Amino acid sequence: MEPIHIVGAGLAGSEAAWQIARAGVPVVLHEMRPAKGTFAHKTGDCAEMVCSNSFRSDDDVMNAVGQLHWEMRAADGLIMAMADRHKLPAGGALAVDREAFSAAVTQALHAEPLIRIVPGEIADLPADGNWIVATGPLTSDTLAQAIRSVTGTDALAFFDAIAPIVHADTIDMSVAWEQSRYDKGETEAERRAYINCPMDRARYEAFIDALLAAEKTEFHEGETAGYFDGCLPIEVMAERGRETLRHGPMKPVGLTNAHKPDEKPYAVVQLRRDNALGTLYNIVGFQTKMKYGAQTEVFRMIPGLENAGFARLGGIHRNSFLNSPTLLDDRMRLRLRPNLRFAGQVTGVEGYVESAAMGLLAGRMAAAQARGRDLPPPPATTATGALVHHITGGAEAKTFQPMNVNFGLFPPLEEMRSGRKGRKDRYPAYTQRAKDDFSAWLAPQ
Ligand SMILES: Cc1cc2nc3c(=O)[nH]c(=O)nc-3n(C[C@H](O)[C@H](O)[C@H](O)COP(=O)(O)OP(=O)(O)OC[C@H]3O[C@@H](n4cnc5c(N)ncnc54)[C@H](O)[C@@H]3O)c2cc1C
Repeated sequence: MEPIHIVGAGLAGSEAAWQIARAGVPVVLHEMRPAKGTFAHKTGDCAEMVCSNSFRSDDDVMNAVGQLHWEMRAADGLIMAMADRHKLPAGGALAVDREAFSAAVTQALHAEPLIRIVPGEIADLPADGNWIVATGPLTSDTLAQAIRSVTGTDALAFFDAIAPIVHADTIDMSVAWEQSRYDKGETEAERRAYINCPMDRARYEAFIDALLAAEKTEFHEGETAGYFDGCLPIEVMAERGRETLRHGPMKPVGLTNAHKPDEKPYAVVQLRRDNALGTLYNIVGFQTKMKYGAQTEVFRMIPGLENAGFARLGGIHRNSFLNSPTLLDDRMRLRLRPNLRFAGQVTGVEGYVESAAMGLLAGRMAAAQARGRDLPPPPATTATGALVHHITGGAEAKTFQPMNVNFGLFPPLEEMRSGRKGRKDRYPAYTQRAKDDFSAWLAPQ
């Protein structure tokens, strides 16, 4: 049988290789390290964790990433098996001994007879054969250039700063209201496409003070400190002048406060729908390099967001990722070149666990195809399925940004639509449904 080639032995590529070999299909795993490194990786090991040593919450009842752990364990995932073997005490989180973990993944891959690890950089996108590209946020420049030339120049985005995403059901709609600026839009839905949070002068001044005082993340060595002017972090805008934000993303024009139509807001924070389900909203123009703790504190000063739950906080680092909603089909194949699948962070998911999960799925799909079968993605009601549906279609292509797994990506439960059920009821119902549906997806394979 022809082998499946994987580019990149990171979290995603390692998991994909394991899944393919377990399905009885040979794999060639290409990895450029250690001969060619990245600014973040320090070793030549597979599945190196470049920053924190945490796989986040291991709670598979109340937490979406915990549910993703559960699904990867159920699917015989190598990354979870090695994480469990090398875990460290960390409360409800799954933290690992980073070096022992990567060494164990490397050893397991070397020991698997159907996997051949071949050192060296892949500099071009192969026209033939069955390939999975899992080169991560720090894809080598040469390959990045090749991906850009195949997919179109803007297709592989490098973002310095990303804006936070809020769970819609945590926005206080007795303060905020739905309206597009100048009521623009052909349909009622378009005219109500944004959620607006009003600020009076005192609140605005206090917000600017907090923004200027907040702790910021410094750039990692090797990263560029240059920003696109259209993508300036809000604190950088505030540093340019106290009024800059009020004339930029917080301008109050073309909007009427539905709760107090006679009061003109001094500034307005707008949130834009981030997914087809309407469960997630991103704060428009609020890309930031404030530290996570500071972000929650400062953003909860915004009227209507006092109790905001964040699906993803803003952040900054170099990140190469595809505009997957336009470029990939639901089997994670490049529409323009279906012999190439993409997996991991380069598909626009964010985080170790999410990247490994996308490797697991791409590996299973590629192995099925090699055996003459078609494997559809798991249903969107599962954590793995919610993520892959989001990146390959559910997300807005125009504003697509890397995404962590979170309950905002899960289709609401029918019986929960009516009453506003609290998270204590909703989350266990989501994770139970996910377990049932994931098991049903897995069973016939
Ligand atoms: C600075 C930084 C800090 C981060 N911190 C965290 C964190 O704390 N927590 C978290 O969950 N996530 C973090 N991330 C995100 C993290 O990178 C991903 O979660 C995860 O590593 C992505 O997995 P991956 O397999 O897609 O990519 P990677 O794990 O990066 O693996 C990609 C592999 O491809 C190889 N490669 C690249 N180009 C080529 C080529 N042309 N030919 C052959 N091989 C190639 C690379 O050497 C690498 O081994 C961070 C990312 C960065 C850049």
